[in-house]
Amino acid sequence: MAETADEIYARVQAEGDLPAPSVTEWDIFPWVVRDGAIAPKPLAPPAPEEPRIGEDGVDCKLCGEDLPGVIWRDESWRVKHLKQSGLPLVLSLEPVEHYDLPDLDEHQAAELGILTVRLARIIESLPNIGRCHSMRIGDGAEHLHMWFLARTAGLPSVRGSFSPDWDDILPPGPEEIWRADLAEVARKLATHGGEALV
Ligand SMILES: [Zn+2]
Repeated sequence: MAETADEIYARVQAEGDLPAPSVTEWDIFPWVVRDGAIAPKPLAPPAPEEPRIGEDGVDCKLCGEDLPGVIWRDESWRVKHLKQSGLPLVLSLEPVEHYDLPDLDEHQAAELGILTVRLARIIESLPNIGRCHSMRIGDGAEHLHMWFLARTAGLPSVRGSFSPDWDDILPPGPEEIWRADLAEVARKLATHGGEALV
């Protein structure tokens, strides 16, 4: 059971001012402080597309059997977590084989749709979760990885498209609660097939 909005608020209040997350140092971070106010960075000039990590499956970090953080898998797909972060749950849904989103055939696309709906439904049924955002960006690694970000119910700051930023800003909550939620998602996903691994 994820923390309530009140529990998170009390925990974060006790920490005082939160430090700026590392995304503020990324070159794609779009904001600067100019004359004491937040302003957009100048648009960078056109440049060739940089190769993504694991192009054509070469040195791909998402190919392989023994990846850390896998909580569920079947013969074609897996769900994994990354390092615990500020939002209650952040999961990645990935094909086991090396495919990008446009590479999927109709059957794989149908599987992706079904798993996306199941994951969203399971995550949104957890106590104290207000929404599960799902998205594919894919500018970093070529191997398809769909993100599922659970945000807390009743905590207005973390709503909407800035929830990934809050995932970096907020300090992680109790690890045992996070692990219990991971296990619950894996268990419920496995009731439809595949294998829970936590
Ligand atoms: Zn790959």
